[in-house]
Amino acid sequence: MDLSIGWLYPNLMSTYGDRGNVICLQRRSQWRDINVEIIPLDRETNPEVFGKVDIIVGGGAQDRQQEIVMRDLQGEKSTALHQALSKGTPGVFTCGSPQLLGHYYEPAQGKRIEGLGLLDMVSKHPGIDAKRCIGNVVFEITATPLAQELTEIWGDKPLVIGFENHGGRTYLDGVQALGKVIKGYGNNGEDGMEGAFFHNAIATYSHGPLLAKNPFISDWLIKKALHNKYQQPISLQKLDDSLAIAARKTMLQRFKDIASS
Ligand code: GLN
Repeated sequence: MDLSIGWLYPNLMSTYGDRGNVICLQRRSQWRDINVEIIPLDRETNPEVFGKVDIIVGGGAQDRQQEIVMRDLQGEKSTALHQALSKGTPGVFTCGSPQLLGHYYEPAQGKRIEGLGLLDMVSKHPGIDAKRCIGNVVFEITATPLAQELTEIWGDKPLVIGFENHGGRTYLDGVQALGKVIKGYGNNGEDGMEGAFFHNAIATYSHGPLLAKNPFISDWLIKKALHNKYQQPISLQKLDDSLAIAARKTMLQRFKDIASS
């Protein structure tokens, strides 16, 4: 089987290890003998390619890069992305890219950046003097039907361990949250929500080790993409996740220790 991974603006949007998500999808597919092609979706790419990839990955970016991306992501490119996500192409979008999938992002300085309006939410940076939301984050995925599907893959509650670093605060409107925060800031540090979920698109503030630390999300994306492409039930061969599981245990214990000290 073959899988193509479209990577949004790799040179402009890949802060804090976000390329790790691409590598993780690639390796976990290859270990199962699935051929992977990584396709950059950027300024040079023909707009129709935006709508043809099997999985879409978007990383974070600073305010300045986000503005450059949004200047390019217009017209046919925007329509192709819109159609792909609306028809259920799976994707994972981190920090700066979900901000651009919402209605708008107001940066710390300068003009409001109009987004694609795909996710019913807005993001605002409270200003250059505002504290950034930085640190390890733990949240439970609650979005439907995602939470149920992840529990089936993982055999346990879909607890996500991640790392966030953002100045912008996101406020959801009609779109459902990805999950509820257990530790950390999440979307805005106020309402206890983290990320958003739309069709098969996962939007989160959790950066690039996301898929490595939470392999069940990676496998869910691969499964969805193969199912969409081949229109047949997909069962993925189990991989040895003992290192990831050990790392998760250590992190969760560390958070408990901090909480009780
Ligand atoms: N510019 C955005 C913010 O600070 C996104 C940052 C990021 O993607 N890491 O909120």
